[in-house]
Amino acid sequence: MLTGAQYLESLADGRAVFFRGERIADITAVGEFDTTLKRFADVYDRFHDAGGDAVNPLFASPRSPEELRERLDQLHGADMLVHLTYQSFMALLTAADRLDEVFPEGSGRIRKYVEDCRRRDVRMVQCITDAKGDRSLSPGAQPDPDQYLRVVERRPDGVVIRGAKLHITGAAMAHEMMVMPTKRMKPGEEAYAIACGVPVNAPGVKIVAVSPVAETEPDPRDYPLSWNRAIPEGFVIFDDVFVPNERIFLEGQINEAAVFAHSLGLWERMGATAGQVNRAEQAAGLAQLIAEANGTHKISHINDKINELVLNATLLRAALDAAMVHASVSKEGVYSPNELYINAAKVFAATGWSTAVRNLQDVAGGSIVTSPSLRDLDNDELNGLLDKYMAGAGESGEYRMRLFHLIRNLTADGFGGWTNVTTIHAGGGIYAQRYVMRSRFDMEAAKRKALQMLPQPAQPIGVG
Ligand SMILES: Cc1cc2nc3c(=O)[nH]c(=O)nc-3n(C[C@H](O)[C@H](O)[C@H](O)COP(=O)(O)OP(=O)(O)OC[C@H]3O[C@@H](n4cnc5c(N)ncnc54)[C@H](O)[C@@H]3O)c2cc1C
Repeated sequence: MLTGAQYLESLADGRAVFFRGERIADITAVGEFDTTLKRFADVYDRFHDAGGDAVNPLFASPRSPEELRERLDQLHGADMLVHLTYQSFMALLTAADRLDEVFPEGSGRIRKYVEDCRRRDVRMVQCITDAKGDRSLSPGAQPDPDQYLRVVERRPDGVVIRGAKLHITGAAMAHEMMVMPTKRMKPGEEAYAIACGVPVNAPGVKIVAVSPVAETEPDPRDYPLSWNRAIPEGFVIFDDVFVPNERIFLEGQINEAAVFAHSLGLWERMGATAGQVNRAEQAAGLAQLIAEANGTHKISHINDKINELVLNATLLRAALDAAMVHASVSKEGVYSPNELYINAAKVFAATGWSTAVRNLQDVAGGSIVTSPSLRDLDNDELNGLLDKYMAGAGESGEYRMRLFHLIRNLTADGFGGWTNVTTIHAGGGIYAQRYVMRSRFDMEAAKRKALQMLPQPAQPIGVG
């Protein structure tokens, strides 16, 4: 296994990363990424085991619903890159199970690849969202055929791929990219039915890193959530990249193209929903804290809004729990979340967050965006005055200011805005989740229940 220092060294592998217009020779030298990379390195050190065959226990497949739940908590205690790696491994193995019958060569390669990645202790990101060009047209009908990633050349030892994958979280900081089609393909679109594993430093890969943090030197007191969360999204261009046969998991099987997206959706949505459940509970807690600090917590309309936040958090937690309690088990004994519940939970989380934000902001008041900076408290002339006039019901001014900055960072500034967009789109967008939810719902049973309520036609009265 790698140590933190070895992880940082491993990033100097010739990868082509661009940031704010410059090609970056060494991403560990970008100040804005310092704290994020240090956090990733710390997690490497935390799980390091010098034994020759050791692998990170977080990446083991869950063997019971309890393990599935425990793993989620452990992943949240680690970092985003570990989370993405785990989801990628599980998605690939789920896809392998589904491919066993139709493309055993591909499923065999997937299992070897995942095994090898676990052994090398690498981090992996998920490349699924294509550029997509004109959204009303399918991949094969685009005026520019590269709008969806495709095979442009077949060689005896592999293929050459071209296209771009957008919004790829953490791409610049990982080692491997799991590349897969974004949806089902039609006859004639075989070149787009390609899934494979590509190293981040493969020749022809170009990553444009996009940071969600607006401030270059944010003060942790003013930006308690985002000051050290500069995990860049990657705009990843595959400019004629060669992929050897052993790294190809699907090639031309159009009917199976959606298998990968569905498998990833399952694991990605579970991770995302768990994060959103946590955030919904934090929002309820923050609303209560700021209402108490403002002296408004006993006022009925404030309480109603906090009740709505509590209801949202509670139903979300229940749906996430249901997804684990009703987990399905593969023939290898691996547990995965229930598709109906996890997709329903994700839709509920994504659509409910804007209402939760409205309620929290309504309860808190305008100081969310107008509170002086905590840096102003460092000024001796201002300190006492700010503490006096920002004081609320028995709480210090400084305490209320810290709460306001936290609420702004969560809901209302650059990072808050990023969080709002991410809640809607990351994990495949609301439409995709509704689609899967609907397809997994037992509509026949629901129809039978509905029909049971229908009054029966009156029986003809017999004669004689
Ligand atoms: C912060 C963040 C991180 C992300 N991380 C990753 C990642 O690591 N890997 C990855 O692969 N992706 C990632 N995504 C991408 C995410 O899955 C997409 O943003 C999402 O699928 C929506 O796609 P889009 O952004 O291209 O928008 P669009 O596809 O343009 O969608 C915009 C709207 O149009 C609708 N729409 C578009 N086309 C159609 C159609 N043909 N029929 C019906 N409705 C349509 C959509 O449902 C949506 O409502 C991330 C996104 C964000 C915001």
